[in-house]
Amino acid sequence: ALRREDKKVVAVVGAGLVGALNACFFAKRGFEVEVFETREDIRKAKVVKGRSINLALSHRGRTALKHVGMEDKQIVSKGIPMNARMIHSLSGKQSPIPYGKKGQYILSVDRANLNKELLTAAETYPNTKLNFDHKLQDWSAETGLMTFARPHGSKTQTQADLIVGCDGAFSAVRKQFLRRSRFNYSQTYIPHGYMELTMRPRNGEFAMKPNYLHIWPRNTFMMIALPNLDKTFTCTLFMPFEEFEKISTGDEVIEFFQKYFPDAIPLIGAATLRRDYFRLPAQAMVSVKCSPYHIGDKCVLMGDAAHAVVPFYGQGMNAGFEDCIVFDEIMNQFNEDFSAVLPEYSRVRVPDDHAIADLAMYNYVEDKNYNNSYFFVFINTLIQQTEKIGKNNHFDNMVTFTRTRYHVAVERWHWQDKVINRGLLLGAVGAAAGGFYLLI
Ligand code: FAD
Repeated sequence: ALRREDKKVVAVVGAGLVGALNACFFAKRGFEVEVFETREDIRKAKVVKGRSINLALSHRGRTALKHVGMEDKQIVSKGIPMNARMIHSLSGKQSPIPYGKKGQYILSVDRANLNKELLTAAETYPNTKLNFDHKLQDWSAETGLMTFARPHGSKTQTQADLIVGCDGAFSAVRKQFLRRSRFNYSQTYIPHGYMELTMRPRNGEFAMKPNYLHIWPRNTFMMIALPNLDKTFTCTLFMPFEEFEKISTGDEVIEFFQKYFPDAIPLIGAATLRRDYFRLPAQAMVSVKCSPYHIGDKCVLMGDAAHAVVPFYGQGMNAGFEDCIVFDEIMNQFNEDFSAVLPEYSRVRVPDDHAIADLAMYNYVEDKNYNNSYFFVFINTLIQQTEKIGKNNHFDNMVTFTRTRYHVAVERWHWQDKVINRGLLLGAVGAAAGGFYLLI
């Protein structure tokens, strides 16, 4: 990368998926990039704590990776194509439901590996410095001065021309926004939690067909499984916290699986289930929406810091990666003038990120007719309405396989007529009855 005359310093706070990728985007432009991450370097860490073990990478995410020249070599070759969903019925019957057009697929990628590759890519730019064990505590929107807590209680301060908040759903950068007038913010925890369980290989091979996103839809419960390179599957069980809490012994785990996911017991293994269910508590899921995404010409939020979404559309990271492209495009448009770029970024991106947050949430709704239980609309309807797949897949395809702006995809589907006018949650149920389904 070129060294710039003006040597503007861009501080990227958070070196998760979006922060590490964003560092590449800014470095490519020649800024002095300083990345600050609260964790130690995950490439050296023994245990990497993250949000999910693997995730679905689709078109938007791949396009962003391509922008910094790292789609194919390191990422796609290590991803496992998922050409269809595989629905597991209670009786153990498996039925594939392909993605829209022939040949289309999404990729199951390992989160830690993707994050490590992105860090290494960022570090190859001579104008980028990665600072681990730096936890942002406070910063000034006036001066760009940031204060970081270091291990063992010390503190350091650094100044930057632009602060890019990529520090995730519980963003410390965003805290400053909350103190300001005319900043909109909402945060919603859903009643479901998630728990990850590993399905080991059988006789050295995948225990189930690998090129599928496996789904066990059970109305208020759902389990999904994504394949990993080491021939394991990571199964994610979604259910209300109160249901997780009802299970307190190994026997109860087996009983529960026998009732809802009987075919998964031999695949995961009864002994493994008994043990692994209690390894970690179920994790919460939060949806965060806010606007605007910037303060003056000093700070901008991207990724989960700007829009944490519930994971039922497989778009959280993809949307965050797309944030980086959108910002980059606007940087071209306004000659890197932060005072023009930042407001334009908020103007352009807020409606799209809000649209995907809503879509992900509408996939998961409370059905007032059903004892306040929560339904995964998309998947239930998917099964009931397979004959309508052609029509709905068009919409689904726009979200997963194109860069059509999220809010435009929603408009084209006449979402607003069908859903918003009827009231959000009940409307979503109504739309479901009319053939609405969505999917990762
Ligand atoms: P994060 O990944 O949360 O990274 C934030 C980083 O900031 C972390 O490294 C953190 O240590 C650091 N940080 C935090 N606070 C500070 C601080 N004060 N100072 C310095 N650093 C700090 N998305 C998809 O696209 N496809 C999927 O299939 C998918 N599946 C998912 C499944 C589950 C169960 C969940 C929970 C999420 C899923 N997502 C998926 C969403 C995806 O995980 C997020 O959208 C993505 O991780 C966002 O990346 P990020 O870099 O913005 O935030």
